[in-house]
Amino acid sequence: MGRMPRVLAKLLLPLLLPLLLVVGLLDLVASPPADAGAAPARPAVLGVSVIGHSAGGRPIRAWHLGTPGARKVVLVSTMHGDESRAAEVLTSLRDGRAVRGIDLWVVPTYNPDGKARHTRQNARGVDLNRNYPTSWRRVGGRYDSGRAPGSEPETKAMMRFLSAVRPAYVVSFHQPLDGVDTLTKHPAFSRRLAHALRLPVKTFSCNGGCHGTMTMWFNKHFPGQAVTAEFGAHPSRRELRGPVVRRLLRLFHARR
Ligand SMILES: [Zn+2]
Repeated sequence: MGRMPRVLAKLLLPLLLPLLLVVGLLDLVASPPADAGAAPARPAVLGVSVIGHSAGGRPIRAWHLGTPGARKVVLVSTMHGDESRAAEVLTSLRDGRAVRGIDLWVVPTYNPDGKARHTRQNARGVDLNRNYPTSWRRVGGRYDSGRAPGSEPETKAMMRFLSAVRPAYVVSFHQPLDGVDTLTKHPAFSRRLAHALRLPVKTFSCNGGCHGTMTMWFNKHFPGQAVTAEFGAHPSRRELRGPVVRRLLRLFHARR
C-alpha cells in the first residue's frame, strides 16, 4: 500500500467501522445465512435465522419466506410448549411452494424447551407470555412471570427480532381457547382474522387480567398490530395445513 492510500485508510476507518457494524447487524435479519434447513427441498425458504437460544440452550429459528420488501408479517407458534398443533400452519407455509405478496417470517417453535418437555413454560418454569416488560406483574405457579420483566432469553430474543423486523402484523397462535382476541389495536383486523381461521371472536382475559404478554408489548411499542389466535384443543392437521393456510394467505393478499 502506498503512502496516500494508507493515510486515507487511517482517516476513513473510524468513519466506516460503525457503518460496517450496522450493515452487518441489518444483514443478519435481512438475509440470514442459509443453513441445511434452506435446502432446495424447501423452495419457499429465503433463509433461516437463529434469533436466540432458549434457557435450555436450544436454538430458536425464524424462517424467512415470501417477497422481501412487501408488507411484513410474523407468525409465531408453540410459545407454550404444550400447544404445538398450530405450528402445522407455519411449517406447511415453510415447506410448501414459494409464498408471494408478503414479506413473511414464521417461528414455528418459539419455546423449544417447553415443546421437548411438553410443558407450557420454558426450562426455568416461566410462562413466556407473562414475561414481557409491558404491565409485567409478579405471578407464580402455572403462569410464572419470571424473576423480572423480560428476564428470559426467549423473551429477549423475540424482542430483538420483532424490533429489527418491525412487522405490520404479528399473529401469535395458541390453543385451546378457540377464538381470536379482539382486545387489540384494530378489532376489525381481529374479525377478519377470525373469519379466515373459522374461529369465533373473543375477548381473552388471561385468567384474571393480562400482564406481560408478547402482544401487549408489541402493540405498545410499534405501529403494527399483534393479535392472539387460539385454536381448539384438537384442530385437524389436514384443516390447518390446507384450508387454514390458504385463507390466511388470502387475508394478507398473498398467494403461493
Ligand atoms: Zn398459549
